[in-house]
Amino acid sequence: MEHKVSSLIEQKMQTEELLRQSQEIAHVGSWTYENETNLLIWSDEVYRIFGVQPREFGGTMEAFFGLVVPEDRVTVHDAFFHSLDEGEPGYEIEHRIMKMDTAEVRYVHEKCLHVRNSSGEVIRSNGMVQDITERRLAEEALRASEEKYRLIAENASDVIYVMNRTQNRYTYFSPNIQQLRGLTVEEALNEPLEAALSLESLIVVKENIAKDMKEFIDDPASVKTHISEIRQPCKNGDWIWVEVSTKYRYGITGDIEVVGIIRNIDARKKAEKELLIAKNKSDAAVVAKSQFLANMSHEIRTPMNGMLGMLQLLEMSTLDEEQKELVGICRNSAETLLYIINDILDYSKIEAGKLSLDKRPFSLRDLIHGVIVLFDLVASRKALFLESHIEQDVPDQLIGDPFRLRQILSNLIGNAVKFTKKGRIDLSVRNLQIRNRQEVTLEFMVGDTGIGISEEGMEALFHRFSQVDGTDTRRYGGTGLGLAISQSLVELMTGRIWVESKMGKGSTFFFTCVLDMADMEQAAIRPTGPEQGEIEKQSVENLLLVEDDDTSRLLIIKLAMKKGWKITLAENGDDAIDIFRSTRFDAVLMDIQMPVMNGYEVTRVMRRLEEKSKRHTPIIAVTANAMKTDQEKCLDAGMDDYISKPVNADEFFAVVRKWCSFGKNQ
Ligand code: ADP
Repeated sequence: MEHKVSSLIEQKMQTEELLRQSQEIAHVGSWTYENETNLLIWSDEVYRIFGVQPREFGGTMEAFFGLVVPEDRVTVHDAFFHSLDEGEPGYEIEHRIMKMDTAEVRYVHEKCLHVRNSSGEVIRSNGMVQDITERRLAEEALRASEEKYRLIAENASDVIYVMNRTQNRYTYFSPNIQQLRGLTVEEALNEPLEAALSLESLIVVKENIAKDMKEFIDDPASVKTHISEIRQPCKNGDWIWVEVSTKYRYGITGDIEVVGIIRNIDARKKAEKELLIAKNKSDAAVVAKSQFLANMSHEIRTPMNGMLGMLQLLEMSTLDEEQKELVGICRNSAETLLYIINDILDYSKIEAGKLSLDKRPFSLRDLIHGVIVLFDLVASRKALFLESHIEQDVPDQLIGDPFRLRQILSNLIGNAVKFTKKGRIDLSVRNLQIRNRQEVTLEFMVGDTGIGISEEGMEALFHRFSQVDGTDTRRYGGTGLGLAISQSLVELMTGRIWVESKMGKGSTFFFTCVLDMADMEQAAIRPTGPEQGEIEKQSVENLLLVEDDDTSRLLIIKLAMKKGWKITLAENGDDAIDIFRSTRFDAVLMDIQMPVMNGYEVTRVMRRLEEKSKRHTPIIAVTANAMKTDQEKCLDAGMDDYISKPVNADEFFAVVRKWCSFGKNQ
């Protein structure tokens, strides 16, 4: 019996121990209140929650109220007594207490159940209490953070929205949608996609959605913010351009969500459009100007052709010394005028972005030699030494645009001669680098002992129309375009141009350029002369001249007569084709701009006529169109070479000779 009692006591103690421990683990305390005696009994955990020692606690309801923070006391009191009076089973409340040992305010959650007797009177109340401070603080922080983001969203000038992509419905729109499109948040939330976008934008957006969804499902981590520009209607009927940035994510429910930011870019779009219109207009103006300059230069070149040609013929005739000098001056002036026209033409091409480079094989040493020969006479007249030096490791056979390279060198040497009174001019070339055995970077240097250029002068040097000193330049002449053109050409050759100079001591201009090195295959890129076997070599001295302009015709006839070459004339394309059908010629000299049928068309017909006979008559364009594109057009149309107008007698003889094999004495 005694043993049974002691085992029961032990069992009860064990149960109490278990209860105490589970309360401690769960941080949940329990209490019992007896109405009649006003006795409040706390479990150990309640003492811990309140930070009170059992001996300090009065064990009454009043003692408990004393530990509730004053602001919450009435609420807690009312909750308890209200549930008692109203016959409710209990109550539940969250409130703050003052934790005695640390003097901190803590949040607790209380739950109470009343135990009533058969007549419904409460005899006892049982309750539990839990410290929920951490949870409450986290909730407060979350609320504060939500409030912060809500404030940001609602005050941002952009509109922010969230869409549940899985369920295809909007879950949030910031109120700014009203300002952007005149819609209430409610209207925006319920607006179908089809109504919110222009037709073109709808297509784009639908494509984006499909793509983004797939990418997001495949790899959620890889998805980036997607930005698109779309057009949306406003409530007042206007349309606006907006930029929408979207980002995909998984929402808390596991659905796919899109967070989007809509920005009004209407003003920017309008400005862009206006800018584009303005740009197109100005582009059109540049094209028109360039076309005008090309036309002008053609129109000027034609009479110049006559003038220069006749002057050349005059020079070849018997003249006394004075006449020779006068004709020489005349020819010199005409040639200067031609340089100016060429500069203006190049400048217009640079402006229109139409300047491009040729690619043909050439010998660098021949080219340099040619330039030196060109300036030798002028330099020696001024008693200047003009010398060139090409370092040994500079490759000779190159591919590039020899005409443009010569132009840069001529401009630099021409300036050096112009701005040097005494001393010397040196042209040197060195090899900076060879890449992949294919590309060579060369550095050219043109040094003089002339007037030099001031610091300020050097800064503006490569700008269009700039001349260092107005008065000087007027003395020296020039258009101020040469260096700007040279710079553009050098840049096209992937190089750069610069100058070092000292006033009164001289200037040195440097430029680099990248050129291809010729190999056997590349050397065959452009026809540079008749190919072996292609043209029959015979001594029939018969040329067909197709030319509608009297002066040009006269000049070529006179030049041909000087060599004793026979010329057959055709004044237009039709006549030319008729004659060509019945007669074989050593070469055809073809004008390009002719009424009814131009030179390209005539050439094409001639080439077709030749197809049957397998003959190939050299056709040489004689053209006032100096643009490179025109020269290319000549070759594309089936011509073999071109001579530009104004015709230079020596060039004319050389080109005709190159393509026809005349007797050795010619
Ligand atoms: P221009 O046709 O007027 O010579 P450029 O563009 O070739 O046009 O040259 C612009 C200006 O740069 C020249 O007018 C001159 O003032 C200056 N300049 C160019 N080369 C030299 C040089 N070698 N020595 C002194 N001044 C030079």
